[in-house]
Amino acid sequence: MNTQHLINILEGKGFTVREAEGGSELVIACPLCFSEKDKLYINAGSGLWTCFLCGEKGHLRNLLIKVCEKTVNEAFELERELLGGTRMRKRPLVPRPAPPSEVKFPEEFIPIDESSFSARGTSMAQEYCESRGVFQDMAQVMGMGYCLTGLYAWRDIIPVVTQGALRTFVARTWIPDEQKKVLMPPGSQAERALFGYDKRAVERAFWNELI
Ligand SMILES: [Zn+2]
Repeated sequence: MNTQHLINILEGKGFTVREAEGGSELVIACPLCFSEKDKLYINAGSGLWTCFLCGEKGHLRNLLIKVCEKTVNEAFELERELLGGTRMRKRPLVPRPAPPSEVKFPEEFIPIDESSFSARGTSMAQEYCESRGVFQDMAQVMGMGYCLTGLYAWRDIIPVVTQGALRTFVARTWIPDEQKKVLMPPGSQAERALFGYDKRAVERAFWNELI
């Protein structure tokens, strides 16, 4: 994790950032419960965060979305910048350079989180996911969401990420008699993303089960 970069992002958003536990935690006042006490702890290594006042918590990407008010696409890009170095260093083999990716989430994308997951109007998406054993936590970790309008209306959006970048997404309908079960964005390097050398087995297993 590029901790200084995260501190800059938080300070740019107006937060006063305090370091705790010898710098392994960053602490700010939680904007989600409008507290002035420094009770939102962010792990400087992983980006996992918890507010000890209101109980909100999550991973780095939804910190960027919920706390720093970034869009989904901005959050994806920033997460890659913040974690990219860490992930590269952990790789046992020399990684091949990541091919450029032009894929963006659709404008209408709604990320699955605790509020949207239980919100009215999304129960069909929820039911579809749960029927395949995908529960809220998993969906959040995967960065899943859904669309209610636009080209991908009434579809779950399942991102496919390799080498830290969004390569493509799968828009899987939850309407039973829809002709096109799966849509993908144009120019999305779908084949490479789906059968790529660096796709983790756990993602593949998850994927096969879902689609
Ligand atoms: Zn809070």
